[in-house]
Amino acid sequence: MALANTTLANPFEGKEIWFGVGSQDLYGEEALRQVAAQSVEIVDALNATGTIPVKLVLKPTLKSSDSVRQFMADATSDDRCIGVIAWMHTFSPAKMWIRGLEALRKPLLQLNTQHHQEIPWDSIDMDFMNLNQSAHGDREFGYIVTRLGIPRKIVVGHYTDPEVAEKIGTWARACAGWDASNSMKVMRWGDNMRNVAVTEGDKTEAERVFGASINTWAVNELVSYVDAVKDAQVKELIEDYKAKYDVAPELLGARYDELFTAAKEEAGMVNMMNAYGTTAGVDNFEDLGTLSQLPGVAPQRFPAEYGWGFSAEGDWKTAVLVRIGSVMGYGLEGGASLMEDYSYNFVPGHEMDMGSHMLEVSPSIGSIAKPKLEIHPLGIGGKADPVRLVFTGKPKRGAVVISMADMRERFRLLMDVVDVVEPEGSLKMLPCARALWKPRPSLKVAAECWLRAGGSHHTCMTTSVGREAWEDFARIAGVELATIDEHTEPRAFERELELNEIMHRLNNQH
Ligand code: MN
Repeated sequence: MALANTTLANPFEGKEIWFGVGSQDLYGEEALRQVAAQSVEIVDALNATGTIPVKLVLKPTLKSSDSVRQFMADATSDDRCIGVIAWMHTFSPAKMWIRGLEALRKPLLQLNTQHHQEIPWDSIDMDFMNLNQSAHGDREFGYIVTRLGIPRKIVVGHYTDPEVAEKIGTWARACAGWDASNSMKVMRWGDNMRNVAVTEGDKTEAERVFGASINTWAVNELVSYVDAVKDAQVKELIEDYKAKYDVAPELLGARYDELFTAAKEEAGMVNMMNAYGTTAGVDNFEDLGTLSQLPGVAPQRFPAEYGWGFSAEGDWKTAVLVRIGSVMGYGLEGGASLMEDYSYNFVPGHEMDMGSHMLEVSPSIGSIAKPKLEIHPLGIGGKADPVRLVFTGKPKRGAVVISMADMRERFRLLMDVVDVVEPEGSLKMLPCARALWKPRPSLKVAAECWLRAGGSHHTCMTTSVGREAWEDFARIAGVELATIDEHTEPRAFERELELNEIMHRLNNQH
């Protein structure tokens, strides 16, 4: 787990996961003292793994309905708390959890662990069994959470098992993604690209479901922000470009003014987004006012340098996903980016999908070689040649592409698990960023299922977090997630979509 972007603001800083241990008064002082001591040991050990990016905070043992209700109400109202873990060390009669669980408005994880790894075969007696009975207590708790219909992640295993910390860590990332989603403001410059269907959507419903506030600002205002940028800020950005990318010699020579303009646009966009506190943005090449270049390098740098989401053609839904993906993947190798399916390789045995976009794909997903900063003409938009980063995405097994589509009555997330691979040729004539991937289970099945589900051509690719973080996120958000993976079979997938449709219609009847 290499640390990648150490200059980015850490989205986990100051956040907490609250750890609530369930018991009851029946067991007496001595047993409850041991429960508390062993809980400290377990939480300390989990924090010490370094695998869970958000600090776990142990709260006093919960022994009554009133204390559970207070714990859940506090967790719900405290902005530091982004999720709650519940573990029943002993038997905690679950009626005492009802009022608290009904009050909880934060993500929930049910941890089914215990203090001892091995049954002490020769010494186990009734006292030991009474104290260490989470197999029993967690079943009682599981019943009530399921009965109340509250979504939660379930993690089972001894607390020293690395997989337990991994799973809690992935869920903690999803909690941070949810927290970021609920405080997200998305800046739209212009509306959606004319006549395109899938990039449209219900922004009011998106705020209800994801908490993200999505609004439009005039491109004229962006132009005035760009005009107001001081030369020093532009030069600082150009130095950063020179440090991170192979800058084409012409951009440092005869075409320096155009590099200057591109960097000035980045500064203007960043200044405006900072002024309004937005963490995702989207533009539209049909509506750029008097900006001279269609922004290229600027939004390509948003996920990697600022942790922000960005998408093109007015597609705010993908911008939301890229922001969430950036937060969930913070500190891991790889990142999140807008992606778009462009071209297939149908050669038998070499089937793959090439994704790209005319400008906006971010090197946060990793690149095979140092990204090149180049300038080329662009056939659409009617603007000056845009400066853009050109690179090929780095191979990565188990990456995902995920799309959000508005299905009229709900949002559908659709995900394909993919393996990013090296291209089989130079791509030397292609003046834009791209990635090649093998969709699971195969190009043909994945594409058939993608089309069946009505997934977008725009996706968020994440190479940092994989499927599990998005599954955790979707469960927390209560949004449909259809997943295409190595086990997908088209007939079963079609049935799954139909069942999803029925379930979400029934759930949405209140
Ligand atoms: Mn597009």
